[in-house]
Amino acid sequence: MILSAKMSKLGTETAFDVLARAGQLSDAGMDVINLGIGQPDFPTPDNIVQAGIQALKDGHHGYTASNGIPALREAVAADIHKYRNVEVSPLQIMIMPGGKVTMSFAIEMFGEQGAEILYPNPGFPIYESMIRYSGATPVPMALLEENGFSFDADQVLSLITDKTRLIILNTPANPTGGIVEKAELAKLANGLKDHPNVYILSDEIYSRLTYDGLTHCSLLSFPEIRDRLIVLDGWSKTYAMTGWRLGWGLWPEQLIPHVNRLCVNYHSCVNASAQYAGIAALTGDQSPVDEMLQAFNERRLLIHDRLNQMPGVSCILPKGAFYAFANIKGTGQTSKQMQDLLLEKEGVATIAGTSFGADGEGYIRFSYANSLDNINRAMDRTDALTRNLMGQ
Ligand code: PLP
Repeated sequence: MILSAKMSKLGTETAFDVLARAGQLSDAGMDVINLGIGQPDFPTPDNIVQAGIQALKDGHHGYTASNGIPALREAVAADIHKYRNVEVSPLQIMIMPGGKVTMSFAIEMFGEQGAEILYPNPGFPIYESMIRYSGATPVPMALLEENGFSFDADQVLSLITDKTRLIILNTPANPTGGIVEKAELAKLANGLKDHPNVYILSDEIYSRLTYDGLTHCSLLSFPEIRDRLIVLDGWSKTYAMTGWRLGWGLWPEQLIPHVNRLCVNYHSCVNASAQYAGIAALTGDQSPVDEMLQAFNERRLLIHDRLNQMPGVSCILPKGAFYAFANIKGTGQTSKQMQDLLLEKEGVATIAGTSFGADGEGYIRFSYANSLDNINRAMDRTDALTRNLMGQ
């Protein structure tokens, strides 16, 4: 078998490996608590499920337009107006099979040998994986704990060279739960005026998951970069719809024909009934989203409190998403060692910080998309492990 060389450059998302291993341990009789995978533990709200079922009953079994059904694209444009206060044309919206595909297509469109793409590190692992696969050089933008896992706009701007094609931003962020303040984003947008050939991919998949009264600041707030801004969002995290595979991208007009051709080549269109469910999600009652957010908030405060009581562990308060990115440097373990000890010995599935890039060494990501009871049980076990490691 002779595979193409670029296959060896493709990485993966360790969360799926941990999920598989947790499943094996659980099948073997271990009581495993999963704080590994990043998906809401709530069911999809019923009005959305019913809309999907109704669409199938109404005969929506066939292909749709490759960019998505018009009513859904209109609903997304209205949603952007409601939550981001910007008018966009439904013609700029591309409906995708999940949030991920917008990122892969954007990277594919700009990445090639000789090109450079900036991405957050630690960050969602698929950014670096797809950049390498495209042949481009990944240039990490370090997100440091001392900056609340945000970035310094001047430092990001200093990484731009004449080879830079794309910058990937993610706020609120996976794996850190950090957000980038509006002032820093404004500084970056302003600095980007000097680099007119650099496009921006803003991954805003956690846009509705912010805490303590903070509101999400979209990159769409900055008109000076709007003609080269791609925004990624979707239904997975906000509406507990990870398995429906439904996402959207907002693309600059000049890229629409290109992304359309990628859609036709890769997936033709998104599952029709999921698209009808997506309309119900955006136009229906939003109280389930508020209730989920409230539950995440309680869990956030609990996990933050518990982690900070453990020897050798500290954790800053996450401001968005549903992840706590705990510093475990004081335990003397590497991230991978700690991930393995927690899973194999204690039955607590988590993800090593290094799964999100080299700058994640010394950290463990805990997803708190799990019940208060399970979080407490997982924290009891993590606490016992750290005390054991520290000889306490
Ligand atoms: N972007 C980030 C930052 C994520 O954390 C995830 C999922 O974990 C995605 C995109 C992908 O979302 P989807 O499941 O809709 O493809």
